[in-house]
Order: sequence, then C-alpha cells, then structure tokens
Amino acid sequence: MSEVTLWELLREVERAGRCSHPVRLGGTTLERATGELHDAILVVSCKDRRAAICPACADRYRGDAWQLVAAGLRGGKGVPATAVEHPRLFVTMTAPSFGPVHAHRVGGSRVRPAPCHPRRSATACPHGVVLDCRERHGADDPVLGEPLCAACFDYVGAVLWNARVSLLWQRTTVAIVRHLAREAGTSEARLRRVVRLSYIKVVEFQRRGLVHLHIVVRADGADGPGSLPPAWLDAGALASAVTDAARTTTVAVPRLEGRAAARAGWGQELDVRDLAVDGGAGPEAIAAYVAKYATKSVDDAGHLARPIRAARAIERLRLGPHHAELVRTAWRLGTVTSLKGLRLRDHAHTLGYGGQATTKSIAYSTTFTALRNARVDFMRAATGPRIEVDHGWRYAGRGYEHPDAGILADRLAEELARLRREGPGDVHQSAPSR
Ligand SMILES: [Zn+2]
Ligand SMILES: [Zn+2]
Ligand SMILES: [Zn+2]
Repeated sequence: MSEVTLWELLREVERAGRCSHPVRLGGTTLERATGELHDAILVVSCKDRRAAICPACADRYRGDAWQLVAAGLRGGKGVPATAVEHPRLFVTMTAPSFGPVHAHRVGGSRVRPAPCHPRRSATACPHGVVLDCRERHGADDPVLGEPLCAACFDYVGAVLWNARVSLLWQRTTVAIVRHLAREAGTSEARLRRVVRLSYIKVVEFQRRGLVHLHIVVRADGADGPGSLPPAWLDAGALASAVTDAARTTTVAVPRLEGRAAARAGWGQELDVRDLAVDGGAGPEAIAAYVAKYATKSVDDAGHLARPIRAARAIERLRLGPHHAELVRTAWRLGTVTSLKGLRLRDHAHTLGYGGQATTKSIAYSTTFTALRNARVDFMRAATGPRIEVDHGWRYAGRGYEHPDAGILADRLAEELARLRREGPGDVHQSAPSR
C-alpha cells in the first residue's frame, strides 16, 4: 500500500465516520467555485446503534445516548440546570420467570459467584431433569440464560411477554399518574395540569431472551423541565407511585388455543433508586450505564441483527439452542390468527419484541436527531463550502468504494476499542460526540 493510497483510504474512511459497512449514495454535486456539476458517490455511515454490527456508529450512538440521559439529569442541551432539583429515579423493570435458567449470581463474599439454582429437595421434572444446579457460573459462562430443562421452559409465554412489554410499559406510565393523583387527592386530569413525567428508557435483552427496561424518570411541573413540580411530589412519592404501578399493572395476552387466558405483568425483581441520594452514581455514571445498554444487540454475537424472511434462515444463524427456540416460537406463532396484530414474524429476530431499543418522552431532554444535526453542521463547517450537495441522492450500494477502506475501518475500530479498554477513564464522557 503506497503512502498516497493509504492517505486516500484514510480520508474515505474518515468521511464515512469510520463506519464498518457504509451506504453509498449516488447523486450530483455542484462545485461552488466553478459552477460545474459532477456525478458523485457519497459514502455515508450506516448509523447502526449496535456495537456488534458497527463499532464506530454504535460508538457515536452511545455518545449521543450519554448526552441525552445526562442532560435530562443535570441540565444542558436545552434542559435548565434546575432540573437537578426535581425528583429523579432510576428504575429497572424485569420480566417474570418462564422457567428456571442458569444464572450468574453475585455471592455474599463477592469473591466468587453464588450457586446457580440450588434446590435442596428438587424433584425431577416430567422430562427427567432434576431442577437443581449448584454450579457457580462465571459472568461469561456460555450456559447462562439456558433453561435447566428446555422442555419445561414456556417459550410461548416468553415470546408473548416480549410482544406485550411496550403496551405494559405504556399502561404502567398511566398507572403512575393515577397513583400520584390518588395520593394527592385529586383527579388525573387535574394532576396533569401541575405535573409532567418525563422519561428515557432503554431495552435490554437478557441472556434468557427476555426484555428488561432501564428507565430514568423525572417529575417536572406542567411546563416541563423549566417548571417545578408541586412540593408534595418528592422522590419518595414518585418512587412509591412507580412501585405501586409496577406491582399492579397487567395487560391481556391475546387468546391462544390450548392455553389458559393470561395477563402479562412485571417480574418480582424491581429496582427503584432515588438519583438524589444514591451514593456514588451521579448523572454521568447513570448516563454511561444506560448508554452502554443502548448499543447492545439481542444476542451478544449480533447474529440476530436483521429480520428473518424464511424459516430455514433461522437454522443458518448459528444461534444457541435457547435463542433458536425463541426465534422458532415467534416465527411459528406469527401465523396464528389471534396473534396477527403482534406481527411476530417481523419481530422473530427480536424474540417477539416489536418496540424501539431506546425511547424517550418529548420533554425529557434533546433528541438523537438534534444531536446528529449538530454533528452534521459541525462537519460541514469543518470541510468548508467546497461542494454543495444536490437533492435526490439515491441508494447505490453498500460498502466503501475501495475494499481496503473497509479493512482499515475495522482495524481502526479495533484499535479504538483496545485504547478504551486499556486507557484511562471512559472516552465517551470527555468526547461524547463527533
Ligand atoms: Zn456504521
Ligand atoms: Zn446453572
Ligand atoms: Zn422438564
């Protein structure tokens, strides 16, 4: 590779934001100085948020997510710094059990993990498996999330729960307001005139294939982060409303032949933390935690990256047996008439879940789009007014024009990841977006 070529490759890679598999757009550019029109190919980043798919784009997404979350907690990006005075919680809502799975459990001594699933008088299940596991699984044990007995695991229940969790969350937010109104001795409509709840939530797929929600909730006055909530609404009152809502809210699961009518609710594990008193975990730490989840894939390897088009494609995905069965179950249920509305075939690669990975209410803080636009403006200012981009750019393929540029992009991503692992502190927090 000659020096000139390397320089050109680097420039191509940098222009596309070091993306692993960018999108090529064809169109026309106007050279301002001469007024000449040129056919041009524009190579733009894929903007995939998943680190397993595109490390560079996921990195920028993580930076943006960090900014979004942090701004809502400590002010900035249009949110007044006084938002810090408002009740703010960090909440984790979980899925119920659909059968025992192997788990990494932090031990009391924290030196070695606690036993996985010890049951002193465990009997064999109908499939002859004793539902007892004394192993102390490490955090990276490949068996984590796999059921003790796959035949006992309720795959249909798990997929239907994932498919209903967005609605369950929506109903839960309504229940939080209802609970607050009851506490204040007023109606929901009156309460909404003085209180506005804002949140950002990130979905995490657990190894057992069920969705968890990580949510930052903030209570503002009716006009959003610039207005104070009523004095009685402190973090304690908000926490008890959230807890009550999570414990009591359920949604109907569509009827399925051969299954009893069921409702989907949250699991027993519920974590509600007051961000004003939680020792150590400042806005920056919470933002980093949420942003990390925002770039995770359904499975760690990223095999479940794209929608599935045919049943035989599932068997080619190199999934573990548990994930494969969840995908097959969603695919199979996709043709059941009573479940049509859940579009389970479209969401088989997300194990039934049909919502976004990250969602936020309007008033929480700035938006991903605003952060991206700011970055584009910054790049335009940096590259100067040399060319103006014409309208009507059309898709012209995937990948860099020069194949070596793709290899270079991947090497750069690896190097940056290595620097981040070995370097001091978290790179995102000092340079969140570019
Ligand atoms: Zn990319
Ligand atoms: Zn185990
Ligand atoms: Zn069994």
